[in-house]
Amino acid sequence: MRVGVPKEVKDHEDRVGLIPESVRELVARGHTVLVERGAGAGAGHSDAAYAAAGATPADDAAAVFAGAELIVKIKEPLAPERARLRRGQTLFTYLHLAPDPEQARALLASGVTAIAYETVTAPDGTLPLLVPMSEVAGRLAPQAGAACLERPHGGRGVLLAGVAGVPPAEVVVLGGGVVGQNAALIAAGMGADVTVVDRDPAVLRRVADRFGARVRTVFSTRGTIDTLCRRADLVIGAVLVPGATAPKLVTAETVRAMKPGAVIVDVAIDQGGCCETSRPTTHSQPTYVVDGVVHYCVTNMPGAVARTSTFAINNVTLPFVLALADQGTAGALAADVHLATGLNVHDGRITHPAVARALGLPF
Ligand code: NAD
Repeated sequence: MRVGVPKEVKDHEDRVGLIPESVRELVARGHTVLVERGAGAGAGHSDAAYAAAGATPADDAAAVFAGAELIVKIKEPLAPERARLRRGQTLFTYLHLAPDPEQARALLASGVTAIAYETVTAPDGTLPLLVPMSEVAGRLAPQAGAACLERPHGGRGVLLAGVAGVPPAEVVVLGGGVVGQNAALIAAGMGADVTVVDRDPAVLRRVADRFGARVRTVFSTRGTIDTLCRRADLVIGAVLVPGATAPKLVTAETVRAMKPGAVIVDVAIDQGGCCETSRPTTHSQPTYVVDGVVHYCVTNMPGAVARTSTFAINNVTLPFVLALADQGTAGALAADVHLATGLNVHDGRITHPAVARALGLPF
């Protein structure tokens, strides 16, 4: 099969669909991989590394889209990319179609077959192609929070770890799922005093089993969240209610009562954020201040560590890419029910019930 890897065009998106090692695997199985020049540069993969892995260089995106039967990307296609998609071609990438009717219309009109990373499932019901990015965002959150706590970044000048004779920072993590546990791991590792809040006792038990006395666990109620936030140096928002916007657990009134220079890193911002005062920010302008509290609400945090994130995504997508290339799209979808749940668009129709429902389109 002819597989294509275009350079990502979204603002500040340095990740790339396939790393040279993934290309090598495909080429060894007899496939051709067209890689746009410069596609891997932001993630530290040179054109020479792709060439050494057996990639066929392509001068521009037009050549990749025209020449490939399977396009492997990271982000949803933007308008110029959508215009290049066609019937008979398969697109494998993060799509997040539900809140994006404009993209949905374009994909339906193109006739393309689109498989979304975020709806591919695992036998235990989890979403294996989303987990690595939650791990990355969770581990980044204390790092971002620690930097924001520094005075030059508007923070209250508190070192997460403290020093001998000076207590560490108090970190409150709202949500003990993938993001929350990874945030707790790094915050505790940096020496902070960490509390994880969740509404699910089973999750709290898992956190307690994993971290023992290094991390406190607290059941989620409005009252406890308000009390914890008022004395926190850093609050990390990591809640998720699947298929819904994030619950607003931290009210504007609580934010007003927080310490001046305290920091909120709202990782859940891609679902609307779990603080009433959160609004989306970008890597170029990551923070803003409300009532003296520094807010960091970057919607694509993993993009900041494009190299690590690209490896992490490739580790989980490569088996599916190989299946699609070896068996063809129809064969691979028929052989794997979990890949098939990733199918969002085919032959001018939305093929995923939840996505169709969200878009108000027939399924
Ligand atoms: P997850 O499902 O693994 O964990 C979410 C947790 O939130 C669950 O344990 C759940 O019980 C808990 N929760 C739900 N409602 C709660 C409440 N009222 N009080 C306390 N806890 C509550 O989800 P995840 O993978 O950890 O993702 C968390 C969020 O981070 C999601 O919104 C995800 O989209 C987002 N995310 C953002 C970025 C980014 O770059 N900003 C990157 C990755 C993930």
